Amino acid sequence: MAAVKKVLIVGGGIGGLSLGIGLRKKGIEAEIVEIQQEYKVYGSGIIQQANALRALNELGVADQAMQKGSPYGQISMCTATGHEFTKAGPPPIGKFPSHLGISRRTLHDILYGEAQKLGVVFRMGTTVVGIKQTLDAVEVHFTDASKASYEVVVAADGIYSKVRDLVFGKFEPQYVNASVWRYTFPRPKGMETGYMYMGRRAKIGLIPTTRDSIYMFVVTMEGDDNPHIPKEDLVPRLRSYLDEFRVPFVQEVQPQITDADEVNYRPLEVMTVPAPWYKNRVIMIGDAAHATVPQLGSGAALAIEDAVVLAEELSKARTVEEAFRKHMDRRYERCKLIVDASEKLVEWEKMEFSGKSLPEGANIGALMGKSMMILQQPI
Ligand SMILES: Cc1cc2nc3c(=O)[nH]c(=O)nc-3n(C[C@H](O)[C@H](O)[C@H](O)COP(=O)(O)OP(=O)(O)OC[C@H]3O[C@@H](n4cnc5c(N)ncnc54)[C@H](O)[C@@H]3O)c2cc1C
Repeated sequence: MAAVKKVLIVGGGIGGLSLGIGLRKKGIEAEIVEIQQEYKVYGSGIIQQANALRALNELGVADQAMQKGSPYGQISMCTATGHEFTKAGPPPIGKFPSHLGISRRTLHDILYGEAQKLGVVFRMGTTVVGIKQTLDAVEVHFTDASKASYEVVVAADGIYSKVRDLVFGKFEPQYVNASVWRYTFPRPKGMETGYMYMGRRAKIGLIPTTRDSIYMFVVTMEGDDNPHIPKEDLVPRLRSYLDEFRVPFVQEVQPQITDADEVNYRPLEVMTVPAPWYKNRVIMIGDAAHATVPQLGSGAALAIEDAVVLAEELSKARTVEEAFRKHMDRRYERCKLIVDASEKLVEWEKMEFSGKSLPEGANIGALMGKSMMILQQPI
């Protein structure tokens, strides 16, 4: 007998949708309130490594994702002149390859479609304004003036979580003085895997997302003060970062950067809440609890894993407290190790971009390898 019959999920992003699916598969009712009236998921890509695919498989959608995205092996790590110095990425897990590149919109559509099919209730354009906990229920007030009572409320509302503010207090995301630029292109001929090129001012990734498309990410430092970049500067600045890369694939895509509306520029922020990520009957998953930089391409993967584990524990435990405690036992260390490693990697990248030598013992390859081994462990 599950610890709960009905759960409210605040936020229908990757984590919230995954949890909705996971709960419905265990026979638990799930309702999602999503602040956007209509989803606006930007089209650039996302990397899902083997552990993410394993978690998506628990939700029954990994095969669909593999068909609609572009599975590939390890990433070819190259200098700015195209010389490969190593390969990076986790070993495959069973039938799941090292990596899947996929458009964010496609992944979102797959999760949303599955959640709808399984009977998750969606309330779009709605959010919470108040949360009051009693011993055996959570009373929630919504922006549409309605209120309802739930056995459990899950905050899956991202790095700026409103639920976190209401229940756990104020935690401010920190800008890390690094940014990511993204743009999508037709897939260059001969691109069989993902590539990363390490430059003096920037690091570039070219990631296949379908047989015909790729996305590029470019990691840069724009300044301590997180400057606003005017729209008219987006195209020329992004193009200029590609100048130092004497590589055919990069030179092929550079002139195709023409539309400022298609440049996705994102200053990077981190925010980790200390354990426990729950208070009585309210719990946080995904970026609401542990938002990190994408240096290990794992934020969404951790959110999906959180969802799988929480659904499992809620269906098994006799009490909500027991389910939450077991969830934390399975999730905290793993998430913290990946968050800490991602932050260390961005620190080292920034030192390299500023021409400083790395601290003694710093080894980017070794840290990435160790993190991949952690992610490969069962959840
Ligand atoms: C530049 C960049 C690149 C990345 N690349 C990767 C990658 O390659 N691989 C990877 O695994 N991860 C990657 N990530 C991380 C990944 O995007 C996040 O970790 C992931 O989206 C977190 O999912 P989430 O569901 O917790 O939060 P979100 O995706 O932020 O979803 C939150 C949802 O809640 C909704 N919401 C917000 N506030 C409210 C509210 N008050 N009420 C109701 N709904 C609300 C939002 O509209 C949204 O739908 C990257 C992140 C960045 C910044």
